[in-house]
Amino acid sequence: MNAFTSAAHVWKSFEENALSHSSAHHLMAIHELLARNGYARVTDVAKHLGITRGSVSVTLKTLKSKGYVTEDENKFLRLTGSGSEMVDAVVANRQVLLKFLHDVLALNSAQAEIDACKVEHLLSPETGDRLLRFLDFLFSKDVRASAFLAAFKSTKEMSQHENR
Ligand SMILES: [Zn+2]
Repeated sequence: MNAFTSAAHVWKSFEENALSHSSAHHLMAIHELLARNGYARVTDVAKHLGITRGSVSVTLKTLKSKGYVTEDENKFLRLTGSGSEMVDAVVANRQVLLKFLHDVLALNSAQAEIDACKVEHLLSPETGDRLLRFLDFLFSKDVRASAFLAAFKSTKEMSQHENR
């Protein structure tokens, strides 16, 4: 198997197992509603995400079958252990991506938010962790790191962005 077919294989298996972007936001909505109100029902999730109850029900069916969400007899939703882990991973990815896009690449907050949102559920925990280590080093007291960052930010392209 060459690198190309191997990558294609990874892509296919990923498509089957991965959480869709919409599913990730459903899990985060349940997480936020539980934290804020102590309960989450289909109607609350629909309101939170600004979509219909029917649409939420369809996505929840998948999330329940994958073992991320449970619903009790009173229609209250809960995250399972793996559902909570998924939320934690997505939130951690979002934080590290935001920092990278905003603090290193100097994109404006709105653009950084949009792009972090698009990628947050796709990064593996390993990549998210490695990116975090990279940022920790880049913003550490290591003089090579601060020199690198300063040199990057003073390049013609970047200083134009900074001054905007
Ligand atoms: Zn998102």
